Amino acid sequence: MSIHELQCYQCGADYGYIGADPHPAQCPACQSSCVPPVGSLTVFDRSCWQNANGKLAKLWIHAVDERGRSFEFTIAARKTESKLVTLSIDDVVLDHPAATRCRIPPAIADEIAAAGITVPDTGTMCA
Ligand SMILES: [Zn+2]
Repeated sequence: MSIHELQCYQCGADYGYIGADPHPAQCPACQSSCVPPVGSLTVFDRSCWQNANGKLAKLWIHAVDERGRSFEFTIAARKTESKLVTLSIDDVVLDHPAATRCRIPPAIADEIAAAGITVPDTGTMCA
């Protein structure tokens, strides 16, 4: 049995889920499926663009969660600073992902670090 504190990425509603099963991946307030990943994310694709001197970079990471939703994280980096610029879930693009309380899930942070980019600090973990 575990307790999850979740926040909808779409409407910002806070809600909780208690249970042994993965959470239902749907916001109870707006029915959006743009909610935090269920279980762990499996990364299946990563692409990176860097300018000639390596000071600007953009990274795209594609992953799926345990309910088969597809997540695409776009990270922009400049020297040692980076930020999450877009997050799309099942092709719904969230404009201001950093406005939510959710930060980069561990599997995604590993991919960012593997690309030689500083992991953005976007808030507290809630997945
Ligand atoms: Zn919602």
